[in-house]
Amino acid sequence: MSSEIKTYDAIVIGGGPGGYVAAIRLAQLKQKTLVVEKDSWGGVCLNWGCIPSKALIAAANFTEKARENAGTMGVIISSVSVDAGKLQEWKNGIVKKLTTGVAGLVKGNGAELLKGNARLVDARTVEVETPDGQKVIARATKAIIVSTGTSVVELPTFKYDGKKIITAKEAVSLNPLPRRMTIIGGGIIGMELGGVYSKLGVEVTVVEFMPNVLASMDQDLVAPVLKHMKHAKVNFITNAKAMGYETLADGALRVKLDVQGQPQTVDTDVVLVAVGFKPNTAGLGLEKLGVTLDKRGHIVTDDTMQSNVPGVYAIGDVSGGPYLAHKASKEGEIAAEVIAGHKAVRDWRAMPAATFTHPEIASVGLYEFEAKAKGLDVKVGKFPFAASGRAMAVMETDGFVKVIAEKVGPDHKDYKVIGVHIVGPNATDLISEAALGLEMDAFIEDIGLTVHPHPTLGESVMEAAKAAIGEAVHILNR
Ligand code: NAD
Repeated sequence: MSSEIKTYDAIVIGGGPGGYVAAIRLAQLKQKTLVVEKDSWGGVCLNWGCIPSKALIAAANFTEKARENAGTMGVIISSVSVDAGKLQEWKNGIVKKLTTGVAGLVKGNGAELLKGNARLVDARTVEVETPDGQKVIARATKAIIVSTGTSVVELPTFKYDGKKIITAKEAVSLNPLPRRMTIIGGGIIGMELGGVYSKLGVEVTVVEFMPNVLASMDQDLVAPVLKHMKHAKVNFITNAKAMGYETLADGALRVKLDVQGQPQTVDTDVVLVAVGFKPNTAGLGLEKLGVTLDKRGHIVTDDTMQSNVPGVYAIGDVSGGPYLAHKASKEGEIAAEVIAGHKAVRDWRAMPAATFTHPEIASVGLYEFEAKAKGLDVKVGKFPFAASGRAMAVMETDGFVKVIAEKVGPDHKDYKVIGVHIVGPNATDLISEAALGLEMDAFIEDIGLTVHPHPTLGESVMEAAKAAIGEAVHILNR
């Protein structure tokens, strides 16, 4: 037991994209800060979520292009194969660089790092059990920020063993690649990793409980992804509940499904369960402190990210959805500013979402079905990538940009942008222009009259905006 009790202005629990950003901002604002992490710096996102999966996605897309598109372009690649070990080595190198970089940035800005498992003793005191079994007590004069994230949900009939029944964590580290993979859950993880492994030559089956995969999205955005995945021979079984499995004599697994009351089975070598995440609040001492949780277990916060217990803040996944790294980072900055005595609140209008399927899907603002359900008077402009010269030149013509605008103003002649949705090449990069537009209350004309460089994919955003008011140039306006 350490005898010295160190005192800080603020203590951050969790070193993911919420926690490490909060710690950096606190240090920049001259707050003496400690950030505690029990695992690896960078959290889920850097270690086994966003970054490693994007590396695998890039490799899978490259493989597919080499196999399917290169010949058409006149580039002759005689054989394409995947070395799973080399792929892992490359991916792990990226992760190492980033996680080391995060620790360096936190330290370089003047915050202290501590490895260990933290719990709140009271609203200003944290006890940390370090990996060597030491107990360290640290006090915060101003605030404690909880940024402990979420962890995977487990289905009772699919207990994780890390080998045959796996989570996304193991799924980004597969070596060798299995012959067959069944994915339970056609949500974001299921669709991103299903896309990866089908392109790398694995026979993929996606089992989804709902009638549609990516069910919360406008389904016209999902259609090009489905087309692509079906071309890669992904087998989709929807309206299907995964009930359990049996191990066959050869070691393979037989997954049992209930498809609208009918039993069905799928034989597979590995089952990836991707049915959602749940907040990490257990063992933190929150109940004893009287911190209010919502019914799903998230810490309830106000717009300054403070919980009902003064001085205890929560940011990122643990404070509620959407479970997005950029939302966590933004909330980390807000909490840091507030703790340092500045005025800051959670008041964004636009929280973009990026799904790294093929083609990519990116959205900001209301979906068309949401706008219509709200009874808004909307105009919708759509521009297909098939009409974009640049999309043709990169052989990525599937998908479209959709701009949704609401009629506003005294004489109802103006159209304010309330949603932009893109499925297509580089959608996840293109969406930032739309996010800025929504933040700045842009009208259709603001996007339509902005000169976009030619030849770029970004022109499609401009054309979709113009299409909403019948002024698109490179498609016929109907
Ligand atoms: P999800 O909530 O996106 O999808 C889970 C899916 O599983 C749902 O479609 C659900 O209907 C289905 N399901 C649930 N129980 C089932 C059952 N018994 N049988 C069959 N299907 C079942 O969850 P996820 O894909 O695990 O992702 C977890 C979280 O991480 C999400 O909140 C997601 O937004 C986030 N995430 C985001 C990104 C990104 O932004 N690019 C990438 C990965 C993960």
